[in-house]
Amino acid sequence: MRYISTRGLPGAAGAGFSDILLEGLAADGGLYLPAEYPQVDAGILASWRHVLATQGYAALAHRVLSLFVDDIPSDDLLGICQRAYTPEKFGSSSIVPVERVGNGPLWIGHLSNGPTAAFKDMAMQLLGELFGYELGRRDGYLTILGATSGDTGSSAEYAMRGRDRLAVYMLTPAGRMTPFQQAQMFGLQDENIHNIALDGVFDDCQDVVKAVNHDAEFKANYHIGAVNSINWARLVAQVVYYVAIWLRVTTSNDQRISFAVPTGNFGDICAGHVAREMGLPIDTLILATNENNVLHEFFTTGVYRVRASAEVAATSSPSMDISKASNFERFVFDLLGRDGERTADLFGRQLSENGYFDLSGTPEFASIPERYGFVSGSSTHADRLQTIRGLYFDNGVLVDPHTADGVHIAHEWIGKAQAPIVVLETALPVKFAETIKEATELDLEIPPRFAEVMDAPRRVADLPNDAGKVKEYIAQTNKLG
Ligand SMILES: *Cc1c(COP(=O)(O)O)cnc(C)c1O
Repeated sequence: MRYISTRGLPGAAGAGFSDILLEGLAADGGLYLPAEYPQVDAGILASWRHVLATQGYAALAHRVLSLFVDDIPSDDLLGICQRAYTPEKFGSSSIVPVERVGNGPLWIGHLSNGPTAAFKDMAMQLLGELFGYELGRRDGYLTILGATSGDTGSSAEYAMRGRDRLAVYMLTPAGRMTPFQQAQMFGLQDENIHNIALDGVFDDCQDVVKAVNHDAEFKANYHIGAVNSINWARLVAQVVYYVAIWLRVTTSNDQRISFAVPTGNFGDICAGHVAREMGLPIDTLILATNENNVLHEFFTTGVYRVRASAEVAATSSPSMDISKASNFERFVFDLLGRDGERTADLFGRQLSENGYFDLSGTPEFASIPERYGFVSGSSTHADRLQTIRGLYFDNGVLVDPHTADGVHIAHEWIGKAQAPIVVLETALPVKFAETIKEATELDLEIPPRFAEVMDAPRRVADLPNDAGKVKEYIAQTNKLG
């Protein structure tokens, strides 16, 4: 399987999976996608159904990944999947349990039982194993530098902790994370994990990361890399849970179901798009945004307009507070018949010159619901509270505010999208205890498995908002290579 860039020219040769694994963007600024999507049919789905039932989630992951990875020996890939998806890390042998809400059309796909209680662990745990494997094979080193306002940073640290060819430097805006999020990151005692509380806001953290990356010599000397949501391996890991959930909810190999997905950077739902393009029988992909409705605006008007930082509202589903959706280019590339030049014009030239592009009135935009199954909605703080309250008191199901956005929009599509509709859970409620309290009056207790980090000494460096100081700190503390 070869990988091509969304901004590439037709006929470009493409790269292998292991080559793009450690890279971020393609050299032309585009995102990587497989040259074509592998296709599944009823026979393959039947065999996967058997694999999941008899050998479990890791074995299914191996089958699905094998369609996308041809430069890692099959036995090694199986080992990678088996180490990534253990019952110890994910709380049950099913890894991804599904639950029906009452006797109705809605189901919840539980993706947040991993080490940091957010769905990002589903991809990050696999990425940690893949990085460890590939760096060993290449005798290489990697210093992951990132900025986080919440779930991504802790998920990355848990996946990379204790690995000897990897170091992680995570910048967080000082004083802006919840106590639970702080404990999750700052309570880690592993020597290769470095937390930096920057005297600034999240955008300042991102600017410092960019500035460090602009210093080509420093970047090369310290093997600086990233684990951001545009990484293809993260997406392909997410395709696996669409398959697993589909297998658990359906009873025949041609039954169509729908998914409702809380969306920020278009990562989680992009994996659904890939699964649907592979032929997994998905009817509708219901995209749920919060007040930061960049994507809902596109799917209803055809206009994609990125927001300035100041325009991004701070909401009670903070992991969806985005100014632009970094994976969206992948979908648009497919929508435009994989025309790399046109994609480059939209995402390169038009976005930087105008801040938006407009596909309204094009046949491609008109084709979206029928051809690609996407519909969308956006919700408010009041919607989240009402949804959390309703699900809890009527059905005994407690969801976090992001998942509540998904449930709220799923309700709007009952009767129009083919049921069952599976809402993808993105975090455990305890991570957002304040909003749960506001909705239900419940005081959630921190589960025992997190108690250790809550009580652990804090490991964090307070640094000024200054890329030079951050580079100095990396130079002083990095023990790699
Ligand atoms: C990351 C995240 C999202 C958004 O997922 P994308 O892949 O960026 O669309 C939603 N909810 C939670 C809790 C998250 O951590």
